[in-house]
Amino acid sequence: MKTLLINNPLYVATMNDEGSEFSGGHILIQDGVIKSCGPEQIDIQIDEVIDATGMVITPGFINTHHHLYQTLTRNIPLMQNQPLFPWLKNHYEVWREVTTEAIQVSTRTGLLELMNSGVTCSSDHLYLFPAQASSELIDAEIEAAKELGFRFQPTRGSMSLGKSNGGLPPDDVVQTEAEIQADTERLVKKYHDASPGAMTRISLAPCSPFSVTAELMRQTADYARDNELQIHTHLAETLDEEAFCLETSGFRPVGLMQELGWLTQNSWYAHAVHLNDSEIVQMGKQGVGISHCPSSNMRLGSGIAKIRQLLDAGVNVSLGVDGSASNDSCDMLLEMRNAMLISRLLEEQYWLTARDVLRIATRGGAAVLGRNDIGELSPGKQADLACFDMSGLSQAGSLSDPLAALVFTTRIKPVDRLLIQGKTVIDQNGSTMNESDLIMDHNRIAQEMLNRAQKRTGINFLEAGQ
Ligand code: ZN
Repeated sequence: MKTLLINNPLYVATMNDEGSEFSGGHILIQDGVIKSCGPEQIDIQIDEVIDATGMVITPGFINTHHHLYQTLTRNIPLMQNQPLFPWLKNHYEVWREVTTEAIQVSTRTGLLELMNSGVTCSSDHLYLFPAQASSELIDAEIEAAKELGFRFQPTRGSMSLGKSNGGLPPDDVVQTEAEIQADTERLVKKYHDASPGAMTRISLAPCSPFSVTAELMRQTADYARDNELQIHTHLAETLDEEAFCLETSGFRPVGLMQELGWLTQNSWYAHAVHLNDSEIVQMGKQGVGISHCPSSNMRLGSGIAKIRQLLDAGVNVSLGVDGSASNDSCDMLLEMRNAMLISRLLEEQYWLTARDVLRIATRGGAAVLGRNDIGELSPGKQADLACFDMSGLSQAGSLSDPLAALVFTTRIKPVDRLLIQGKTVIDQNGSTMNESDLIMDHNRIAQEMLNRAQKRTGINFLEAGQ
């Protein structure tokens, strides 16, 4: 039995049901699980003590929407200034060059970047399975996450509606419904762990209304219901998508989800920007979740999601950095700050506070991923926590409210200590991982993919588009 005591923190936000916060005191961890925490000092025999003087401690953040492979295609000139549909069509040409090595390396890079911003659990949405690539790309992601000791809930993404059938993606990056189903069953059997404290869980994620068939959506919802899995997709991201849904199905995006049996408690949607009032009420009543991605929504000019109304309606709201081709970073602290700031462009009654976004990034993420064992510092929960030293230049003068300072101020250095299942996975004062080889490999692969795409298509990706 291993015990760990975190002593005398500057400030702790538990994110429990009562919203308890305290200064000083302790967090006691036993075998990867929180045994006790509170403002009182304790004096017991323990294996290891972490002195948390000057640190703000929160539950590790939970990122619920990402495309880790997109770290290979950040800010490509041609797509820098394009909205979603042309941005996607050009990116498909580069993404179809992915290899197993590209997935391994980009997963390591993206997860390390997330971890450095305090993330201890993330989902990922890999939906692109080019005919020339291995069919075991998600296996490669899972291996990379395991090496980092990271809690991972990847989705088995999918696309089944190619260009020749009226979809947006090229035909050679989509798969048949039978291929997708067979691989889903294989992955669930091999990796899905439903037990409390699980480090790997699989969810299912057809990509979007404009890249999958109705048959695949129904098949996914049925299989998920029978096997108690979460389901995920992009929804109501842009007005182009809304027009596509109306034209091809006669429904607005939320109406289409209702029609396909997707408005259920185990579903969560990325973006959810273009919703009317009755759709927001309906989503709340059905208990669905969303992943708010403010940086991506700004980058692609998609719009501002109505987060306050969604919260008031009872929708489970979480936060996602989205893929790095539309962000172009994997920084959860930045995402929280953007979520707070973008809400201030709406009328004052819809503004979000720093504590609102911290809650969304912790408890909100846990609820959306269907978990009650993370997202909170309480006895019996997993010891996933982030410790931030608040003595940096950019925090000077902000300590009248050290917790809100995490969202209001920016950090020019990473998280100081990160624990997952009670194990230190990042420690700025200890040995840090040598990242230079990883970055070199990442840049080489990114360049190779761009070169191959340029050669194959004749498109000049380096010319700034508009
Ligand atoms: Zn996305």
